[in-house]
Amino acid sequence: MNRSSRSLSETIRAVGPLWLAVMSSALLAAAAGIRGLPGLLLITIGVGTAVAVFARLRNRQTSQTVVAHDATGGNLQVLLRMIDRRTAIRMFGMSALFIGPMGGVPRALELLAGQQVPEETQSPFSRIRQWAMIIDLRYCDGCQSVGSPPRCTAACVEGHLLPEPMQWIEVFEDELEGEGTRFIPIPCQHCQNPPCVNVCPVGATFSTPEGLVLIDQERCIGCRICMAACPYDRRFFNWGEPPVPPEAHLAKYNLEAQVPALKGTVMKCDFCPDMVRAGTLPYCIQACPNQAIYYGDLEEDIATNGRQLVSMAAFSAEHNAFILKEELGTQPRVFYIPGHGEAVGRVPSRTGRLPTVWPWTRTAPGGDVWSR
Ligand code: SF4
Ligand code: SF4
Ligand code: SF4
Repeated sequence: MNRSSRSLSETIRAVGPLWLAVMSSALLAAAAGIRGLPGLLLITIGVGTAVAVFARLRNRQTSQTVVAHDATGGNLQVLLRMIDRRTAIRMFGMSALFIGPMGGVPRALELLAGQQVPEETQSPFSRIRQWAMIIDLRYCDGCQSVGSPPRCTAACVEGHLLPEPMQWIEVFEDELEGEGTRFIPIPCQHCQNPPCVNVCPVGATFSTPEGLVLIDQERCIGCRICMAACPYDRRFFNWGEPPVPPEAHLAKYNLEAQVPALKGTVMKCDFCPDMVRAGTLPYCIQACPNQAIYYGDLEEDIATNGRQLVSMAAFSAEHNAFILKEELGTQPRVFYIPGHGEAVGRVPSRTGRLPTVWPWTRTAPGGDVWSR
């Protein structure tokens, strides 16, 4: 081996560990989704760490002399700078030390495992919530006591700029055995065995790790087979150009809010995951004058109606909560506590509720109105 090829070989070997450190830092920063200045900073720290370790290695007993024979039978001494596996792992680990606290390692492991949990479903502590709702019918009087149409429905309509005639949470008046009625607000039940998801041919409706059923209107082809499959009749179709206020057309589409509505697609209650992540309760819960609706996390076993906190399990068990159409095995995430508004003074014989209105229906330019 001549002198020039030997020095090239040594250079490559010498640069090897450094290259390994640079690549590992870059890989972790990329896996962490870190871009721009923070990413560059982390890579720089990673490289700096690697260089420091490399410099220490050079001063340690990490070189090895190998004696070989050249073509003439003479001895040829080649100095190899070796990096063993343990050292490589140590360098990789030291680089990761800087990136790990910023979430890089868990995310890198997720990617390596082939799982990519959508960022929007992750809490700051990487806990996966299991959202659920409890509707306490003892407190629901259909908003008769405040003399208005159901405020939960109205708030959802206005919060999501829903086209007429959509009522994602619809307050039905249900005949009681004997005499009189009760009011029962019914949003999408966010079934854990959802027939709608099971039949969608294009995967436009899907379950999230947090147990929600969402719809991507940009993927929906409008076949409406999910509507036929839903046993709770909680899906709505945009038959025409949706009558929505002008500002809805300017909104950037977000499948967690489903704004703006798109003609020829299906929509429904989304459980407002964007709101709860931002630290507020869904519109319907905020608007209820009687605090009849609780929203919570089954995983943590806690729910709130905005005024009080309850243990979901204890509260449901104590008041004999039920689910709708249990016999179908759809496993809803909405639980009901039996009642007919008696806790807020309603008597069953006081029937009737005021109809929901869509404030912008008559003023939205170019919008169609249809019936379900
Ligand atoms: S849940 Fe609350 S807001 Fe909705 S109808 Fe019943 S009382 Fe009114
Ligand atoms: S209530 Fe209907 S739309 Fe909602 S998840 Fe269940 S089947 Fe699907
Ligand atoms: S949870 Fe959100 S989308 Fe569902 S009914 Fe309430 S406000 Fe509407």
